[in-house]
Amino acid sequence: MASITMNNLVKKYDDGFPAVNDVSIDVADGEFLILVGPSGCGKSTLLRMVVGLEDITSGDLLIDGERVNEKEPRQRNLSMVFQNYALYPFLTVYENIAFPLRLAKGKFSEKEIDEKVRHASELLDLDDHLERKPGNLSGGQRQRVAMGRAIVRDAEAFLFDEPLSNLDAKLRGQMRTEIAQLQRRLGITSLYVTHDQTEAMTLGDRVAVLKKGRLQQIASPRELYEQPVNLFVAGFIGAPSMNFLPARRDGDIFHTPIGDIPVPEHAKGKLDQAGELLVLGIRPEHFADAKDVQDTPWAARGTTFEAELTHTEWLGNQQYGYVRYEQDQDVKAKLDELAKDLDADEMPAQVVVELDAASRIRGGSTTSLWVNTQKMHVFDPESGTNLT
Ligand code: ATP
Repeated sequence: MASITMNNLVKKYDDGFPAVNDVSIDVADGEFLILVGPSGCGKSTLLRMVVGLEDITSGDLLIDGERVNEKEPRQRNLSMVFQNYALYPFLTVYENIAFPLRLAKGKFSEKEIDEKVRHASELLDLDDHLERKPGNLSGGQRQRVAMGRAIVRDAEAFLFDEPLSNLDAKLRGQMRTEIAQLQRRLGITSLYVTHDQTEAMTLGDRVAVLKKGRLQQIASPRELYEQPVNLFVAGFIGAPSMNFLPARRDGDIFHTPIGDIPVPEHAKGKLDQAGELLVLGIRPEHFADAKDVQDTPWAARGTTFEAELTHTEWLGNQQYGYVRYEQDQDVKAKLDELAKDLDADEMPAQVVVELDAASRIRGGSTTSLWVNTQKMHVFDPESGTNLT
């Protein structure tokens, strides 16, 4: 096992465009680190640079403190687990796991190979399936065979390139759990690429969010969710997404299209350098039906306003309400730009509100909503920086 250190890594392809732009990340020994971001953000390129499939234009890559920029992939001793697991359908599970050992011709005796395969298959709970072919295994078992190959090689780290993206939603969920458990059990340093924020949040000890080749934030899933450094991270992490609400500040009041919101204590003093125009970030769960909050101790943590719900969505255990509003044209262009970064055409002029599943509020009605202003973020619309 090993640590992986990326120092100011840059990758420019022939067209000169930096697909990876000055990225520095430390993956600790035994850590599960996720690289996440929308299509084209450079996450696969970065993984390929680490494994040695892509040259490094500048910067240093260290494995366990040793610079490996010029080393061949084989010498780096990292093991890549691909989307389709790259198993040989005509070989048994045993032979698939033994494959990398046989490839190193003559290096291992039959006895050594047998010991390593049996050790790996016990770890992975595959001992009863050694004579089967991959075609007769479940998706989860196939994944384990692929990891078995990495284990017999005594790889320093596992690198995963979107291993679950071809699976249907249910299997993806199961496999996610399986990978998380295996990684924790084996304690192998792992670097995992995905565009799926749910995978990132559930698997990673820490998550690195990339946009257009640049590292935006690297933090634990909880910190990313609760303290996103900018609009991009705030919008990318969380489903449904954080609401972005244009606001004009007038002293201690934010004027917003859904009503006036007092500037919360935690934001006061941090907005002095900011312009009048700001973007408020509020997660759906920080809204509530005012009736559900009144007379509770936390009512004082927020403020109440009247809104018309255009429609509601009831999902059994949850309910979402939608509030539409007229978009401020000055802010619209900014938010639409952000939407493009998040792979959408435009930012909808609406607020999504999480309601109690038992709430009887229906679309078309005007109602009192409560918003927890203590959890509110305030962003600079120009730089996207989280000012709070
Ligand atoms: P996806 O999830 O779609 O695979 P990604 O985040 O993994 O996206 P990369 O595949 O790393 O992104 O690509 C990053 C950028 O580099 C993109 O703009 C892409 O077009 C460009 N790129 C990738 N490979 C090459 C190449 N061989 N030559 C030139 N440009 C490339």
